[in-house]
Amino acid sequence: MFDFNQVTIVLVSTSHPGNIGATARAMKNMGLNKLTLVQPAQFPSGVAVGRAVSAIDILEKATVVDTLQEAVADCGLVIGASARSRKIPWPMLNPEQCAEKVVADARKNKVALVFGREDAGLNNEELQQCHFHVQIPTNPGYSSLNLASAVMVICYEVHKAALAVENLPVPQEDEFWDQEKANGEQVEHFYRHLERVMIAIDFHDLDNPRQLMQRMRRLFSRIRIDVMEMNILRGILSNIEYKIGSVKQTSQKK
Ligand code: SAH
Repeated sequence: MFDFNQVTIVLVSTSHPGNIGATARAMKNMGLNKLTLVQPAQFPSGVAVGRAVSAIDILEKATVVDTLQEAVADCGLVIGASARSRKIPWPMLNPEQCAEKVVADARKNKVALVFGREDAGLNNEELQQCHFHVQIPTNPGYSSLNLASAVMVICYEVHKAALAVENLPVPQEDEFWDQEKANGEQVEHFYRHLERVMIAIDFHDLDNPRQLMQRMRRLFSRIRIDVMEMNILRGILSNIEYKIGSVKQTSQKK
């Protein structure tokens, strides 16, 4: 049985509470129940309750946090929904591919599906915290869906994919993997550590950063590193720091 508790819908800085309610309803229709709100403009809200109809339980259980980083801290797979292509191309999925990944991954890791602001979508920093982006194919002349409609399309695909694997228990590639994927919190520690070391060895210049960290994020997002591999890399970074004398071996920073 597919465990829908493994999948969280994350809404970032939603301005209209009606969209939060409509999201809860779409989620419940499709069997999902975990909702995280990053800095909603208005929540709790009577308007949201009105639009949620019989999905008020999802609103009541919703978690409110300050940053996307917090929202995805325990997730091994993060997929961001975006209507537009961005400056640095990122691994891109269509809704069916997205749902397949979600269902395969949710057997091992927690998964977050992230949706942006009504007016401006997700910003670059937020998009770079995602392993993949998902774009719903639409009319090129008017590509941006209403937030809750976008949530519905993605949740519908996840629902269909979840039913399909129940009927056809094909082993997924990831089932054979011996380690869990690193989660959002672990990779953020790693990026900070990597940045510190690259600065210490004069590889990275904060006055002229170019797109180094974005490219490092994209590289490691593509690989989807596991916990053991991440520990090895952290160990290498710590030894570099020790060797160049920028930190004592005993006082490893997080
Ligand atoms: N004007 C914004 C769109 C915001 S719509 C922009 O250009 O980015 C609110 C959110 O709904 C988006 O951040 C995205 O998460 C989701 N969304 C809307 N249309 C989408 C589409 N065609 N594909 C994927 N996600 C979409």
